[in-house]
Amino acid sequence: MDIEELDKKYVLPTYARVDVEFVSGKNAKLLDSNDKEYIDFTSGIGVVSVGHANEMVNSAISQQISKITHISNLYYIAPQVRAAQKLVEASGYDMQCFFGNSGAEANEGAIKIARKFGEINGETKRYKIITLQNSFHGRTITTVKATGQEVMHNYFGPFPDGFVYADAIVDVEALLDDHTCAVMIELVQGEGGVVPLNKDEVQALAKLLKSKNILLIVDEVQTGGYRTGEFLASNVYDIKPDIVTLAKGIGGGVPVGVVMTSLRDVLTPGDHGSTFGGNYLSSIATCEVLDILKKHKESGELESIIKYFNNELEKFYNTYRNFFTSKVGIGLMCGLRVKNADTLSNIIINAKENGVMVLKAGKNTLRFLPPLTITKEEIDEGFKSLYIAVSSI
Ligand SMILES: *Cc1c(COP(=O)(O)O)cnc(C)c1O
Repeated sequence: MDIEELDKKYVLPTYARVDVEFVSGKNAKLLDSNDKEYIDFTSGIGVVSVGHANEMVNSAISQQISKITHISNLYYIAPQVRAAQKLVEASGYDMQCFFGNSGAEANEGAIKIARKFGEINGETKRYKIITLQNSFHGRTITTVKATGQEVMHNYFGPFPDGFVYADAIVDVEALLDDHTCAVMIELVQGEGGVVPLNKDEVQALAKLLKSKNILLIVDEVQTGGYRTGEFLASNVYDIKPDIVTLAKGIGGGVPVGVVMTSLRDVLTPGDHGSTFGGNYLSSIATCEVLDILKKHKESGELESIIKYFNNELEKFYNTYRNFFTSKVGIGLMCGLRVKNADTLSNIIINAKENGVMVLKAGKNTLRFLPPLTITKEEIDEGFKSLYIAVSSI
């Protein structure tokens, strides 16, 4: 049987698979099972931030796992402590970290911290968390309820109580009450369609929440790890959240989820935990990825590649104004709004046929999340294929 048949037979059908099997990669290049080459403008939905088969990450991992891979959080784990220190220092915030394995799990941790904070601070039991319409916070029962998209709330109930959706940042204030413990937002909505929030509105909200002792949780699962050009989108927006969650790009492909918070005393031993979280394997990968990206940022290379990519995207957008209505995004989290949904799926299919992988986001956005280490040559090659792909639509 070929892979398609085996997949159909043994794997639950939760994904509409694209008909391709990648077998290897190098930075932003991919090779499929027919030896066809592609340029990767997706990096596995913002995960492979330092590129495919990164030699430094691979070497760090293989040195580590030849010694010890896992022992449990009952004991000290040196790479975990080092990863936490690197994350805190990169953020510029006075925070501590908890390690899990995914974005949803990081958000679960953030919600638990907020709920306990709400229970032990203030006169009433505070449990409500306000999130935004069109947000995305994960696929577990709680984070799917935190996600402000009605279609995601079909089936699976009853859900945990206490999630309230605001249409926009400016509508949050009217929803705050004595039971509100936190507001959770993505600064650039990713799955919702690459939608950056307004900086002044976010800063005003952060100030308002501080004055009311309500927590601000920023879900940086997609924006974190230099995706926007700074370590966190919160740095770009110049705010100080109480809780930040990270995942996708932090482990370079090894599953890592992180909750960072300035609330040191809320969780106490026994309140929260994870079997795998922060083990030697994922922590060594996190350390290496953070070192690589820190250098990339400090050398100015990240800034220069962001400029180059956005310049090429702008040219592409201007060439095909008949398909696109606007260019959106920050750093290397970019999108083009497409006039109609059929055109969008045709672009994605044609792009794949012509050797460049791109993503969909929301209903009408062509999304680009290339590795942060992508080279100018790889960008040129990717756009060359993309022009050919779109010219035949
Ligand atoms: C991808 C994503 C999640 C979920 O992460 P998983 O690792 O799939 O659980 C949560 N929030 C945001 C903003 C995301 O982009």
